[in-house]
Formats: sequence, C-alpha cells, structure tokens
Amino acid sequence: GRSAGLEGPGAVRPEVAGARSATGVTISGLHKSFGDNEVLKGIDMSVAPGEVVCLIGASGSGKSTLLRCVNRLENPDAGTITVGEHEATHPDVNLDAMRRQIGMVFQQFNLFPHLSVLENCTITPRRVLRQSTAEAEAEALAQLDTVGLKHLADRRPDQLSGGQQQRVAIARALTMKPQLMLFDEPTSALDPETVGDVLASMRKLAQAGMTMLVVTHEMGFAREVADRVVFMDQGLVVEEGPAAELIGDPQQPRTQDFLRRVL
Ligand code: ADP
Ligand code: MG
Repeated sequence: GRSAGLEGPGAVRPEVAGARSATGVTISGLHKSFGDNEVLKGIDMSVAPGEVVCLIGASGSGKSTLLRCVNRLENPDAGTITVGEHEATHPDVNLDAMRRQIGMVFQQFNLFPHLSVLENCTITPRRVLRQSTAEAEAEALAQLDTVGLKHLADRRPDQLSGGQQQRVAIARALTMKPQLMLFDEPTSALDPETVGDVLASMRKLAQAGMTMLVVTHEMGFAREVADRVVFMDQGLVVEEGPAAELIGDPQQPRTQDFLRRVL
C-alpha cells in the first residue's frame, strides 16, 4: 500500500500544491500493432482514483505503447480506455479536454532550453489555461516548492542536474492541475545520485492522493510506493498484485525470471 510505514492512524498527508480530486483509468481488451508487430495483445488493467500502479516488464514488452495509448499519443486498434468521464477510444472524445486531465513525464524531460525554469512552468498554463502571468507564476512557484526547486526558478535548464530537470518536468506537469499522472521511466536517464530526489517527489505526489501509472525499473520505489504492480511481457499482462506480494512472491515463471534479473 501507499507506504504503510508513513500512513499509520493520524498520519498527515504532505500537502502538494494544487492537489485535487483524482481520476481513474480503465483499459479493456487493448490491442495495438505496428505493421505486423502486435505490441499489445489484449490488455485489461485499471488504476483506481488515487491509486498508484507501477508497470514493470522487459524492454520491448509494450509498456510505453500502453501509456501512450492512454492519452492517445498512439491510436489503439481495438479495446476501450476510459480516463475519468472521458472515453479515450471513442471517436467523438474531446482529446484536448481529456489530455488536460493527464500529466505525462517521460525519460527525456524536454524542457525548453531557452526559457528559465519558471517560464518552462508558466508557458502552458498561460497559453492553454489562459492564466495571467501573475497567476501562472504563483502556481508554478508553489509546484516548484513542492519538488524543492523554488530557489532555482530563474535558472536555465542546462544549469540544472538531470534530476533537477526531471523535477522541473514534474512541477511543470502539475501546473496544469492534472488528475492523473503517467510516468514513463522517469529516472532511467538520470545519474544515480540524482534519482533519489526524483523518486522522493513522486512519493510525495502519491501520498497527496494523485492517481499515478508509473513505468519503472525502480523496484524499491514500486515496493514502497505502489499500491499494485502489474508485470507485462510480450504485450500481455502476465501477473498483477499488491506491490509487496508481486515483488516478494511472484507466482508466474516469467515474473520470477524478470525479477531475478532486475533485483
Ligand atoms: P517498452 O516501453 O516496454 O520497452 P515499447 O512500447 O516501447 O516497449 O515497444 C514495444 C514494441 O513496439 C517494440 O517492439 C517497439 O519496437 C515497437 N514500437 C514502439 N513504438 C513503435 C512505433 N512508433 N513504430 C513501430 N514500432 C514501434
Ligand atoms: Mg518504454
């Protein structure tokens, strides 16, 4: 569960600026091929509002494609995906409205190199949410404070470590007030010494009640923070369960093989 050690009776959830009601995701019968390569072969999975699910599996098993189908960066061939009240796979879905509810953080953080940290975090709320500069800056500073980087608001991305840039990318996503956060290997490109601070920011977000679907190879994070872990192999969900059970006592041979290799 959500860090059992931190959530005893009377535990206080850390405040995350702008945290708001969470939204869930339901995926059923999802198929996706690239040419002859069937990458997703009928995926059923869900993330409940406020739940943290870690998606694990070998490279090439379809994890990124699955995440990209959720916000329709890829078009599924079959199946349904709902995100809150939006049916992502419906022909008439309002993609802009749906995507505004979804924050995405990738391995490559893609900050604008010529803009300051603060400007990186205000440009989209100003353009898309039509916020005033003052309103956008106040929200951005609050989110940068949440990830511990308010003091670097005037820096440019190239003056930050990889881990700091990734935390800016998280703050930037949060300025749009998403109800669901998708993370695709957010720490895979980072120097080992900066990984911990990124995971700490993600843990704080989880504890604030954000719905999170996280592709990661960080089994310590999955075990501590995830409510559930889903193991995918070759386009199918092989096994899923509570984090401690799936990681500590996997039942399927393919899960056991995978975990033996990464742990
Ligand atoms: P994972 O994230 O688990 O490593 P991916 O979803 O990235 O897996 O990739 C799964 C398979 O889909 C791989 O064989 C990959 O080459 C293929 N694939 C992913 N995206 C594309 C694409 N845009 N065009 C063609 N093949 C793709
Ligand atoms: Mg991937």
